[in-house]
Amino acid sequence: MVALPSSDVVRRRPTRSVRTLDDVSLAPSATVDLDNRFARELPEMAVPWRAEEAPDPRLLVLNEPLTAELGLDAATLRTPEGLCLLLGTAVPAGATPVAQAYAGHQFGGFVPRLGDGRALLLGELVHADGRLRDLHLKGSGRTPFARGGDGLAAVGPMLREYVVSEAMHALGIPTTRSLAVVATGRPVRRETLQPGAVLARVASSHLRVGSFQYARATGDADLLRRLADSAIDRHGFGSDDGGAAGADHPYLALFGSVVAAQASLVARWMLVGFVHGVMNTDNMTISGETIDYGPCAFLDAFDPATVYSSIDTGGRYAYGNQPIVAEWNLARLAEALLPLLAEDEERAIALAVEVLGTFRPQYDAAWSAGMRAKLGLPDGLDPAVALPLIEELLALLQQSHVDGTSFYRDLATAARGDAEPVRNRFLDLPAIDGWLARWRALGPDAAAMDRVNPVYIPRNHLVEEALTAATAGDLAPLGGLLDAVTSPFDERPGLERYAVPAPEDFGKYRTFCGT
Ligand code: AMP
Ligand code: MG
Repeated sequence: MVALPSSDVVRRRPTRSVRTLDDVSLAPSATVDLDNRFARELPEMAVPWRAEEAPDPRLLVLNEPLTAELGLDAATLRTPEGLCLLLGTAVPAGATPVAQAYAGHQFGGFVPRLGDGRALLLGELVHADGRLRDLHLKGSGRTPFARGGDGLAAVGPMLREYVVSEAMHALGIPTTRSLAVVATGRPVRRETLQPGAVLARVASSHLRVGSFQYARATGDADLLRRLADSAIDRHGFGSDDGGAAGADHPYLALFGSVVAAQASLVARWMLVGFVHGVMNTDNMTISGETIDYGPCAFLDAFDPATVYSSIDTGGRYAYGNQPIVAEWNLARLAEALLPLLAEDEERAIALAVEVLGTFRPQYDAAWSAGMRAKLGLPDGLDPAVALPLIEELLALLQQSHVDGTSFYRDLATAARGDAEPVRNRFLDLPAIDGWLARWRALGPDAAAMDRVNPVYIPRNHLVEEALTAATAGDLAPLGGLLDAVTSPFDERPGLERYAVPAPEDFGKYRTFCGT
């Protein structure tokens, strides 16, 4: 049985005065219609809370295209009043900012009460596509879920999330989006003293596998059912044919939708060489959007054992383990959903196992189709031809420590007739020549390859360079990197340094969880 923070904790509010939009007399154009649907529908999982004041707010980056999609006015967001909204220190009328409760398996161990320790859901707004989006803050101060944490975030990690999530979006990979990063003017103690910041992010929801684990652990069957109903409604799991709400068994269909979304998502991560780094169940959405960019990074040389996070000492979340971990996390979701699947537990387990069994074939199909596309080969290609070709290529890439991203672009050049850039990357020339001959015989389409193989990804050394400069006050490298990675397939003169792997002396890249 898991209890929410005791009511005296819930009632406790920061003592300083909380400004509202009325207090700061925002111009009418700044009015933001924020719903409080999550807080209303699932109050047991929502602790009303307020953001901490920021001594000296300064806008570091604003996502203007996203601003427009959300019906917000960029010029207004740039004003001092707009910054108060992005910091959560001014709350529009009708909004109820909350810290969300969730549980989670962290590195395999269950923690029944995690929740937003340093984040707030400001509310929901309507996107241009007609669907709701969460407006959420990270680094907005301690909440009742903060445990030992300071509730804060540093400029570097918040800009990392901004850059990487926007790069993922541009790559066509489902993800939470980043709306803005505002420096607070408050120092944050990590290994060193860092400037503090708040990230404003947008998601189709912040419902996680851990949200369902939380509801299940409370033992409140009604809460679990309302959470599932709200997820079905929110994500339109019922609006398409065969969707959850329209299905004979909506909760089983809900589980099936999450399995499908995650199989597709993780296949996309694998195809682009993305390593999430902390695939705990609290960091896995049910929407299938990538969430919580901490010690994440992109592969240079292809190697399934690659780990970037300094806290992942066992390599649990290594690049090559990600599909298995996703399946493991989905099994934890199934456990949480069991009471909704059937009255008889044996029956519920049998149903869940059957649906969970669809993860591997769906993952395999998405990954194989993606690999065929990367190689410029036709959809209908016989898997008995495609799969051995793919496996052999991955072995050669690993053997010669080849940078995957630039390799696939050079492979399109080989499809156009010049194989030298590809050949130069390999130690075993007879092997790559043999492979190239078999591949060329299948008639690869170079233009199609360039549409799916990015030129520019947020390479680790470039991200580090941009974050170090931004932390020291120079935003120019961040701007250059964002320019490159937000049009990742469009090769442009002058951006050559964004297209090549790290220099030899960059060393073994590590990210740190001091986020
Ligand atoms: P993460 O590993 O970032 O997904 O966070 C795991 C849990 O730790 C979540 O409950 C976070 O809200 C919480 N957390 C992480 N960093 C902090 C912090 N600086 N202060 C308070 N809570 C934090
Ligand atoms: Mg998290």
